[in-house]
Amino acid sequence: MTYRTRFAPSPTGPLHLGHAYSALLARDMAEAHRGKFLLRIEDIDQSRARPHWEAQIYDDLAWLGLTWPQPVMRQSDRLQFYNAALRKLWALGLLFHCTCNRRDIQEAASAPQEGGAPIMGPDGIVYPGTCRHRHSQDGAVPFPGNAALRLDMARAATMLSQPEALAFLETGQGPDGQTGHIRFTEEDLLTTIGDVVLCRRDMGTSYHLSVVLDDAAQGITHVVRGRDLFEASKIHVVLQRVLGLPVPTYHHHDLIRDAEGKRLAKRDDARAIAKYRDDGLRPEDIRAMVGL
Ligand code: GLU
Ligand code: ZN
Repeated sequence: MTYRTRFAPSPTGPLHLGHAYSALLARDMAEAHRGKFLLRIEDIDQSRARPHWEAQIYDDLAWLGLTWPQPVMRQSDRLQFYNAALRKLWALGLLFHCTCNRRDIQEAASAPQEGGAPIMGPDGIVYPGTCRHRHSQDGAVPFPGNAALRLDMARAATMLSQPEALAFLETGQGPDGQTGHIRFTEEDLLTTIGDVVLCRRDMGTSYHLSVVLDDAAQGITHVVRGRDLFEASKIHVVLQRVLGLPVPTYHHHDLIRDAEGKRLAKRDDARAIAKYRDDGLRPEDIRAMVGL
């Protein structure tokens, strides 16, 4: 199998130093293994994606010296595949229709009988389970169009009872230094992640579902990305297992921080690659700044 990495930016703002690090590292790793480096545009959030940011991504990456095969995969072209996977999960009885808004979730999660502060997962408050009874009944109920759908994590975990299903190989590091063979349990999934949204009503998909389907479609063997997504990888492994997709190796890298140790936000335009370039810096200066 060819070693393949990817860089998967969202065209919702300028690329900054953190993106440059991620893209260059993914390319360097592919090159070191005589593999391929691919690009993917993650533009499912059409309320925030803009064509000029996409154009800027191509410009910035080319300036950094990166090349990638054409055509570039764009998530907005792949809604039919996301929908097909959702229908499959629905037929397996793994999804339920959720009508809660943010406030409902906050109130249910902080109700006195729940005890203590709500637990935060990769997508915010761990879902308190309000709509979990609204199941597909293993496909007996027709697939609801235009609805928010959540993964029933308990059912998914039950389906994955074989040992080794809840595991992946990490060649970088998680936030607590986790590396190597990472195992997680059903208990971890239920308490720290919960019933995540797989289909947003406004998108017809979600980051988690799309990233898993696209990494598989592009034949990605090594997912290189920031450490902030380490916990989300557990969701991705669950989805890969229930959908019968290969589980790639993960490499979660350091987050590039500013002088005060704060994470670089996307809107931190002062650190935009384009700004450094306008200031006369060279691509090799960017490499040096991110420690490559
Ligand atoms: N589009 C995501 C981001 O820009 C990429 C996440 C990933 O690499 O899995 O954060
Ligand atoms: Zn709900």
